[in-house]
Amino acid sequence: MDFAHFIGGQWVADSDVTTNRNPANQDDIIGTYARGGAGRVDEAVAAAMAALDDWAHASPQIRHDVLEKAGALIVQRKDELGRLLAREEGKTIAEAVGETVRAAQVFKFFAGEALRNTGDAVASVRPGVEVTIEREPVGVIGLITPWNFPIAIPAWKMAPALAFGNTVVMKPAELTPGCAWELANILEQAGCPAGVFNLVMGPGSQVGARIVEHPDIAAVSFTGSVATGRRVAVDCAANGKKVQLEMGGKNPMVVVDDADLDVAVGAALNGAFFSTGQRCTASSRLIVTKGVHDAFLDRLTAAAADLVVGDPLDAKTQIGPVVDQSQMDQNMRYLTLASEEGCDVRGGGLGNGNGFFMHPAIFAGATNAMRVSREEIFGPMASIIKVDDYDEALAVANDTEFGLSSGICTTSLKLASHFRRHAKAGMVMVNLPTAGVDYHVPFGGRKGSSYGPREQGSYAREFYTTVKTSYIAP
Ligand code: NAD
Repeated sequence: MDFAHFIGGQWVADSDVTTNRNPANQDDIIGTYARGGAGRVDEAVAAAMAALDDWAHASPQIRHDVLEKAGALIVQRKDELGRLLAREEGKTIAEAVGETVRAAQVFKFFAGEALRNTGDAVASVRPGVEVTIEREPVGVIGLITPWNFPIAIPAWKMAPALAFGNTVVMKPAELTPGCAWELANILEQAGCPAGVFNLVMGPGSQVGARIVEHPDIAAVSFTGSVATGRRVAVDCAANGKKVQLEMGGKNPMVVVDDADLDVAVGAALNGAFFSTGQRCTASSRLIVTKGVHDAFLDRLTAAAADLVVGDPLDAKTQIGPVVDQSQMDQNMRYLTLASEEGCDVRGGGLGNGNGFFMHPAIFAGATNAMRVSREEIFGPMASIIKVDDYDEALAVANDTEFGLSSGICTTSLKLASHFRRHAKAGMVMVNLPTAGVDYHVPFGGRKGSSYGPREQGSYAREFYTTVKTSYIAP
């Protein structure tokens, strides 16, 4: 089946297409998706500009109702959409249905936020003058999304953008256009007016680059790699656009001597390997104090070897495939590098079948100076770094160019509380995996992981609105 762009309320086909294949079975073709270029972005921006004034000034009840309906439609179709997600991205069916439900919750949350866009009234220093401070839409917003959460990340950008009265041009990752296409379809069914939401699919170098440079796009929200994100930020600054970036991570999870080992091993397995390690919040550095190091390593090695790698649509599968050949090649280069750098590599073999299957790998004996401990790998691999004590663990945890999520497993309230205050990260997890967050609270990091205001929860308003201060004399 062919899937078209969604521009100005119309489905617009392109002669050029991208074939969307299942990473678990390269013979399974999900569909062919239109592959646009700069011209399609220009058409979409024109449609979004034309729709902006009416949408920006529409009753918040109308915006609420569209988002609420979209959330309800996603829930109704969660199994079918979850299956599509598992087929196009490769995460397990349980994770994929969970992510789909998350997208619905995000739409419903921001339906409510449309009604909660409050302002302030302040007494002026000048007698008789009234001062009000209101939040207005920013304008046409460009959204650029990655492949690893192909329904949740588009949802958590689209929903607040629309809730606060902006219009949108969205470009999904080339590897996963299917879920984004379904969201466009759902918004149309939910009664979103023509031009308010536009979907243009195609390569980042053309569609993404045009979104970043288009003079009528007021703001860009980007999630993806550090290299692309930094370029987007520079180009946005040069073009005078507001910009928000969510990028990579090299997230530490500290395990100290007093940790409950069942909790620590469970958190490490989930954090490092679930979703095939393809999460920006993955626990890719496991920093373990010496008293518990050997026991933790043995138990984690055994538990990782037992994880079932295979077809994401099989309910028994715990780890689906790597997303594509190029990510697989990169994973294999890091496996080789780990050995070259002196790690004792445990696991990491290839799986069977016509897909990109790989067993989880543990890099025992790693140090924090090694490249495998400093660079984001984005695969089912984790360094185990042995340290003397909690103080060294904290220092190693913070010694990274990233700062997205940071965790500790401990039964000590004193250490948990100290870690929470001293971790240099946007999110801190105690006795939990570094991955796995709530949808109604801010998401984002520090240092090289993020730039600009936070996403999600009530904090999303900061990026998707602009402040107007008004003075009225009687
Ligand atoms: P990527 O940077 O390759 O691509 C992200 C998006 O940018 C895609 O839609 C791509 O087409 C587009 N793009 C590429 N070149 C562009 C250009 N020149 N101008 C504008 N857009 C361009 O990232 P990816 O491989 O799709 O995703 C994996 C990365 O995403 C990882 O580094 C991961 O850590 C990160 N990620 C971060 C978060 C977070 O919230 N911090 C969440 C998920 C993923």
